[in-house]
Amino acid sequence: MIIDAHCHLHFPQFNEDRDEVISRALDAGVVMINSAVSPGGIRSTLKLSEEYGKVYSTLGLSPSELNDSIVEETLELIEEHRKEIVAIGEVGLDYYWVKERENRDKEKINFKKFIQLADRLNKPLVIHSRDAESDVLDMLEPEDTDVMLHCFSGTINEVKKAVSRGYLVSIPASIIYSKQKQKIARETPLELIVLETDSPFLAPKPRTRNEPLNVKKVAEKIAEIKGLDLEVVEMVSTENAKEFFGLGF
Ligand SMILES: [Zn+2]
Repeated sequence: MIIDAHCHLHFPQFNEDRDEVISRALDAGVVMINSAVSPGGIRSTLKLSEEYGKVYSTLGLSPSELNDSIVEETLELIEEHRKEIVAIGEVGLDYYWVKERENRDKEKINFKKFIQLADRLNKPLVIHSRDAESDVLDMLEPEDTDVMLHCFSGTINEVKKAVSRGYLVSIPASIIYSKQKQKIARETPLELIVLETDSPFLAPKPRTRNEPLNVKKVAEKIAEIKGLDLEVVEMVSTENAKEFFGLGF
């Protein structure tokens, strides 16, 4: 068994063959953690979890969504479905798409609301951070919520900071070609690594569609980089994800 700790199977890129993509992964022993980033996505994500046993849901909102009523609707949906989910996220900060100071401040206010909700519902947080790693780490510092940094792209110092706090660092399939991701994997102890595809994005081959089955390639690459047996990488990363998401199998 191996866990794809972050993917988006409800995205339109899978409309033609969603069932085949999921079945391919399940047949290969891949458990999937599917992440919603909008209220509409929340509904379809929950439906997928209902339909397929080993597709779990995390519910969140794209940080670049600044509309107040959508933020409130998302917070309410998460609370309403708290028993059906394994984490809150992805949530966080995105300074790549959001450049204006005022809007970045708004992102922080919204992120704080999700952090507080995670604390209140006692759920772990799946974090999205793009060009905003230092602010994300600052905002999380006073919190004691469990944290997984999805597709983390920080500097080596930021990785060290995350590791010292015991955050999980989720390594995406782009590790196949990304020197930066390879560096991050080298710097992170296996005990804090989980694997993800971020499907349909970040495929091992650029500009192709990614799918959860490719999580096996992430394990292979990490084994190669760290000089470990593939089975060890699969086993430890699976245990890390199981514990973080509270998966009881
Ligand atoms: Zn994602």
